[in-house]
Amino acid sequence: MPPPENKISPLKNPVASLWGVGSERAAQLARLEIFTIEDLLLHRPKRYEDRRHFRKISELTKDEAFTALGKIIALGLKRFRGGSKSVFEIILDDGSARLHCRWWNLPFMENYFATGDDVFVFGKLKEIKPRTMDHPETEVIEGGEESFIHINRIAPVYPLTEGLPQRWLRGLIWRTLDRFEPQIAEPKRAPDLKLFPTRANALRMIHFSEELTDVEIARRRLALDEFVELQWQIQSRRKIFETNAKGLPCGGDNRLMKPFLSRLGFKLTEAQNKVLREIRADMNGAHPMRRLLQGDVGSGKTAVAACSALMALESGFNVALMAPTEILAEQHWRNFARWFEPLGIKVELRTGSRKEKKSEVRSTKDEQNSRSHFALNTSHLIIGTHALLTSGFDLPKLGLVIIDEQHKFGVAQREQLVRKGNYPHLLVMTATPIPRTLGLTLYGDLDVSTISEMPIGRGKIKTFVRAADKLAKVFEFIREKLAAGRQAYIVYPRVEDSGAKELKAVTVEFENLKKLLAPFRVGLLHGRLKPAEKENVMADFRANKIQVLLSTSLIEVGVDVPNATVMLVENAEAFGLAQLHQLRGRIGRGAHESFCILISDARNAEARGRLKILEETNDGFKIAEADLKLRGPGELLGREQSGLPKFRFGNLVEDLELVRQARELAAKII
Ligand code: ADP
Ligand code: MG
Repeated sequence: MPPPENKISPLKNPVASLWGVGSERAAQLARLEIFTIEDLLLHRPKRYEDRRHFRKISELTKDEAFTALGKIIALGLKRFRGGSKSVFEIILDDGSARLHCRWWNLPFMENYFATGDDVFVFGKLKEIKPRTMDHPETEVIEGGEESFIHINRIAPVYPLTEGLPQRWLRGLIWRTLDRFEPQIAEPKRAPDLKLFPTRANALRMIHFSEELTDVEIARRRLALDEFVELQWQIQSRRKIFETNAKGLPCGGDNRLMKPFLSRLGFKLTEAQNKVLREIRADMNGAHPMRRLLQGDVGSGKTAVAACSALMALESGFNVALMAPTEILAEQHWRNFARWFEPLGIKVELRTGSRKEKKSEVRSTKDEQNSRSHFALNTSHLIIGTHALLTSGFDLPKLGLVIIDEQHKFGVAQREQLVRKGNYPHLLVMTATPIPRTLGLTLYGDLDVSTISEMPIGRGKIKTFVRAADKLAKVFEFIREKLAAGRQAYIVYPRVEDSGAKELKAVTVEFENLKKLLAPFRVGLLHGRLKPAEKENVMADFRANKIQVLLSTSLIEVGVDVPNATVMLVENAEAFGLAQLHQLRGRIGRGAHESFCILISDARNAEARGRLKILEETNDGFKIAEADLKLRGPGELLGREQSGLPKFRFGNLVEDLELVRQARELAAKII
């Protein structure tokens, strides 16, 4: 839809205001989410039938659906099993051959056909002798003045709902288009009409095109309008925000940063430093920071988060850090406490399971006991899961909010947290390299920094896809690595045995592997354990008291144990590519060479091809693009990410160029 017009367009009127649309039809249209005249004009055909050229019945095949046209020479309804089952059949003849069309258990189909009717059918053959189709799409040709809408042209075929005839809907759209064409205005910021058809023309072409090639031209124009509308919303939200919100002075003065960096144990990479300069400029800026930090797994985002936190803490503000899982929150708490405690900064952990037990809220050091000469600095760092959002969390002087692994949070949650404070700076970190179309759509309101290089001195990760009959060999290999002092993760798709044989369950395998891998010690981690149990297992693994950690995808994000160099994933086909890449990111964190072994018996070529991508590349960006193509945006981001708008014409997998153009057009309006 175009940006709002000054006067209300007649296209916003309800469909029921159209001639011929009574309350029953309006209710049917509503089921298709058609409420206004504009919705009707934007109802997208699901396919097109070229009714200028159709197949002879004798040329129909079993492989591909085609349109044919024939006359009904016989029809009948047969009931059997005492009348509870039925088959209705018509026989069409077009001079070349006869075609039987059958509908099972839909006796009312009888009402729609009569001998002598000319009928379009669309489908593929079920049987060749005699030529038979089951449940084909059909449309009876009726004479009369409107017949030109339906035959001898490329006819649109629309998604329907029960009781709504194709022919009726096509006629309605034709008449509505004719009558309202002059009111279809160009939006405020129209694209270059040398490159795109007008909106009115595009709508005509999407419904009643002269040539099939026009359909894509029209789709692109209508998709662009959708993207402009969305970008306009995103950018105006940001604009309003910038005029209303003043940035808190959080640039810092390096007095904590200097000692922190000198004790960190490594030098920041140039990529990390560059990103930190961008962050510092934002935190010194007139408006609150809104920044997305992208960096592949293992690129060192945590250290950047720590430095950003120190800038705010040095400036006398508090900081909140949110992570998607308790394990990750706990791990961050451990690291940040170790880093910040000597600087006199209090680091608190608050997670969902701790909330009830307030007394257990841990701080690394009582302020009174702090002997640090920074003790005057009473700023806090609070670390938690998204439970922070619901716990009535209210931190005074909140200067910076850091959200780790953003792809696990919804857009709405992000907004919610920020509203708790007085427009703190916001740093959102993600390891899933977000394909650009999605990035511009979901995070269009954020500035983006990318950590483009990995810290040096990392061991290589080798990835192998193997069939399950190689498992014995794989375990032999793992034992070798364990004997050399390394540790391993083994990941399964399920927690418990569900009876479904195809997917292995971690609790079942745990019993087997304890014996198989002895004397090495095996630990078990999954979402149904109590938080304290999870913490203990992680602590044991970190301390190398456990050499092998069996887990579900729970360890997907953030977990950092550099001595672990083997990642074995069973039933790998059950995971998404981006998810497997995340899992693989758990290894290759130290100097030793690492090995990721993906076990899959997936027989279909597509599933195997998918896994091969991981064998071929370690580039998270390429993997995310491949995942987006294979599984679509909803799957890639997970259910939680409901912030994605529905597009009728836009396609986030393919329309990167259009999204870019839309962004520019929207920027010009604003
Ligand atoms: P991610 O970006 O996936 O969150 P982490 O922040 O967990 O990655 O960093 C991965 C590992 O790399 C950690 O063990 C961290 O201490 C280490 N690391 C981070 N930055 C550097 C650096 N500049 N040089 C060497 N090691 C680094
Ligand atoms: Mg991380």
